[in-house]
Amino acid sequence: MLKNNLGYPRMGSHRQLKKACEQYWAGKIDKKELHQAARKIKEENWQLQLNTGIDLVPCNDFSFYDQVLDMSLLLGAIPSRYTPVLTDVKTNEEIDLYFAMARGYQKDGLDITAMEMTKWFDTNYHYIVPEFTAGQKFRIFSENIFSEFNHACQICGKAAKPVLLGPVSYLLAGKEKEAGFEKIDLIKALVPVYIEIINRLKNFGAEWIQLDEPFLVLDLSKKEKQAFEYAYAEIAKACKGVKLLVATYFDALLDNSQLAVKLPVTALHIDLVRAPEQLDEVLALIPADLILSLGVIDGRNVWKNDFMKSSIQINRAVACLGEERVMIAPSCSLLHTPFDLDQETEIQPEIKNWMAFAKQKLEEVNALFQIISGNTELLHANQKAIDGRRSSSLIHKEAVKQRVATITENDAKRISAFPVRQQLQQQRFKLPLFPTTTIGSFPQTDEIRQLRSKFKKGELTVEQYDEAIEKATIDAIRLQEQIGLDVLVHGEFERNDMVEYFGEQLDGYLFTKNGWVQSYGSRCVKPPVIFGDVSRPKDMTVRWSHFAQQQTSRPMKGMLTGPITILQWSFVRDDQPRSVTANQIALAIRDEVVALETAGIGIIQIDEPAIREGLPLRKANWPAYLNWAVKAFRISASGVQDQTQIHTHMCYSEFNDIIENIAAMDADVITIETSRSQMDLLNAFADFEYPNEIGPGVYDIHSPRVPTTEEMVSLLEKAATLLPAQNIWVNPDCGLKTRHWPETLAALQNMVAAAKQARANL
Ligand code: GLN
Ligand code: ZN
Repeated sequence: MLKNNLGYPRMGSHRQLKKACEQYWAGKIDKKELHQAARKIKEENWQLQLNTGIDLVPCNDFSFYDQVLDMSLLLGAIPSRYTPVLTDVKTNEEIDLYFAMARGYQKDGLDITAMEMTKWFDTNYHYIVPEFTAGQKFRIFSENIFSEFNHACQICGKAAKPVLLGPVSYLLAGKEKEAGFEKIDLIKALVPVYIEIINRLKNFGAEWIQLDEPFLVLDLSKKEKQAFEYAYAEIAKACKGVKLLVATYFDALLDNSQLAVKLPVTALHIDLVRAPEQLDEVLALIPADLILSLGVIDGRNVWKNDFMKSSIQINRAVACLGEERVMIAPSCSLLHTPFDLDQETEIQPEIKNWMAFAKQKLEEVNALFQIISGNTELLHANQKAIDGRRSSSLIHKEAVKQRVATITENDAKRISAFPVRQQLQQQRFKLPLFPTTTIGSFPQTDEIRQLRSKFKKGELTVEQYDEAIEKATIDAIRLQEQIGLDVLVHGEFERNDMVEYFGEQLDGYLFTKNGWVQSYGSRCVKPPVIFGDVSRPKDMTVRWSHFAQQQTSRPMKGMLTGPITILQWSFVRDDQPRSVTANQIALAIRDEVVALETAGIGIIQIDEPAIREGLPLRKANWPAYLNWAVKAFRISASGVQDQTQIHTHMCYSEFNDIIENIAAMDADVITIETSRSQMDLLNAFADFEYPNEIGPGVYDIHSPRVPTTEEMVSLLEKAATLLPAQNIWVNPDCGLKTRHWPETLAALQNMVAAAKQARANL
């Protein structure tokens, strides 16, 4: 029974890679130092995996930026716009080409855009999307994988296991950059290069090679299934004497099970955390010689494994296949978990004893192996922790559970239907046609950031801090009044982050000191951890919203983060369904909404930018998710009177396929990101005849460019051809926290002028 690991976090125990890359980009260290930093991280990782007894230690799982981009470089899929980077600028090496693809290249008179980035399945990791053209050619371009393999073998004293994104998933992760072909048809051109890579690795001494094919857990077309059959048949024919392991993760194989078990490879890895039920299915189908790698340890979360549960699964596989045909592994690459729990010195010991980060998860692989071999002590210690968690009063709050259990349909419904509310709200606020507003945050200047950090370090008293935030808020309100906005915001100067701010004030949440996970490139995030039943011990935002409303006679919008976004951007509990946690958060937000209403706030925005990214990987699972997610939002929004206007906001607004559900959220006003698509994203709303009010963003906040009044007027007029004019709001695409004041003021002035002109034109 081999102990397998699919991949390891590459940032280093103290984010050394982040620091090294950023210093290299800033010209503060040279290539040699950058590579030295990488070598050290890799060596530490391999050593650590060896020490914890991992048999199949991965290599080539390291990446300076992203493993999919590494594949594009390896396979020579380099868009032609980057050619000058290598040819014209003599000092550049492969690594500069690589970073140019990741980040764009502005130097020596060249101005080349970066490749597109998108989310890696349902994780918060972003990969660089391969670009394909009609006659796309592939060849071995980079030698990195071979040198890393040799390096790993030296350190490990045995053959490491190179990890590659498999050929079909590599193509499906990419994008056609011109018309007239389908990316999947490139498989014929691609497979020979994979064969060459695999054979070269074999000649260097590789025994096992891992090919990640996560697309096997998605809905596949017939052609895509055939591409799998074709690719692996060709590889099997041409690559003898090396063992291939195909890794699937993030969901169940379902209708692709048959296809997956029949691939002519030595081993198949399946995710038994996301899809424990697929074990029996796969065992029933498995051919006589295939080895099964059991992903029993959660590679996507921070909780200790339940050894009893896992060992039952492992024993079931062993009974069916025999020990030699079973491997123990984490469910996916450990890239998505923080590095080392031992570094967390401030988590309560009782809670820490329920947790495991990447390093601990490797130890769990080893422990499970021992347990299967008869070690009962390890099992008992684990059971004690698991039982403790099951009954701990730190987690379990009867009142919270009770309240969730007794949620009724009425709790998820406003008192009256939208047309009634719209009329009452019009009478109350008397807003003009095309009312203007912003999404919430105003520029987070260095001054504001310093305030917060000084306050955290204890260098400012609460009074000093509050006074400074009050001043920033008042200034922002005056500016909004001068600009002539109709509905104002307080600016969110007191907030660090839209989830952390709430997490810090909710019960059931904890924060790590060093729990970083890579989001993209050198950017890491530190998601808060929901460990227990969530409740709201006291008001969270009332103090600031109330203060802001007192400063002005115009309506002040209260600003909250919605339950799905809070859920989605945290590490969540694995001891209850996500939907239950979502409902607990929804009730906490609901209470805050009502408290704001009571404090005289008439307009309240509940941001839900993450609703779409929570969609399950398989379409068949969408309705169930959307059902509880939309309901959670509605629970949070429905505690108020008809006269109180509920807004919601979403960025990245590709809504075609879920427009019905967006409408079902029944927010009085929704603001969305549309400017970069020239309002095209509004078509979904128009086709659906979206009934409620809507603020399609009229300018892109991601760039410092100040939009002209004319262009915003024309966007507004376009919007008015798609939707009833009396339902349209005027606002930027998103919050303004990343912008500077000068361009913000100029842009908002033009925006208000655009609204006035559009009113006059009508
Ligand atoms: N209210 C938040 C802000 O303005 C919304 C941010 C977001 O949509 N991501 O910053
Ligand atoms: Zn946004």
